[in-house]
Amino acid sequence: MKETKKEIGETLKVYPTETAIWKGLKSPHIQRNISDFMWKLLHGRLKIGMFWKQIPKYEERAHCKKCGHIETMDHILFVCEKEGREEIWNETEKLWNETTPEAEKNEWVHPSTMLIRGLGGIKKAGVFESKEITEKYVKLVLETVWILWKLRNEMVIGEKKIDGRQMRERWRKEINHIIETTYARALKQKSKDKRMKEIEKINGQWGKIIEKGKGKIEVKEWKG
Ligand SMILES: [Zn+2]
Repeated sequence: MKETKKEIGETLKVYPTETAIWKGLKSPHIQRNISDFMWKLLHGRLKIGMFWKQIPKYEERAHCKKCGHIETMDHILFVCEKEGREEIWNETEKLWNETTPEAEKNEWVHPSTMLIRGLGGIKKAGVFESKEITEKYVKLVLETVWILWKLRNEMVIGEKKIDGRQMRERWRKEINHIIETTYARALKQKSKDKRMKEIEKINGQWGKIIEKGKGKIEVKEWKG
């Protein structure tokens, strides 16, 4: 946790306490299955790498099939040579630049495993212009991590073949879906005040690519 806090402080200029990092995993903008995943990541309970060494007949799962290295979260997210992994991060950055208002003031921060571990605890603006933009960053990065993790599981545990193009398509589809459902949820807020606030926030975060229809939105085609 010490290193995570240090990384967060250095890159995002926010300084959450350890308690804030744990508590933050329950924030409403973090999906429940992502917070469960994060909890396991922080406790070292994910079934990767050395975990498989002690499971008879599954020892070979300890190593990445593509590169042969011991599989770690860092390997899956930022090192693996599997086609599609790096492209997804590049597209994430492009999406950020394309949709963030005054993107030059809110420069994309390249995430790392250390940074990701602490993202739940980030509530303040820090290097970004506002709390809302920070929340967008946290959401976008964690959702992307979650998609990469699910894809990895389908390939390693489910033994499915997924190529780089399919990985990118999955990422794009899921991100669009998340933006749409966040908006749909905001519309359902009973209190008018809360509803307007939420909608304003989402417009600020994703306004450039959302198209409003009656009572719903659709994510427009974006270049990426
Ligand atoms: Zn690999």
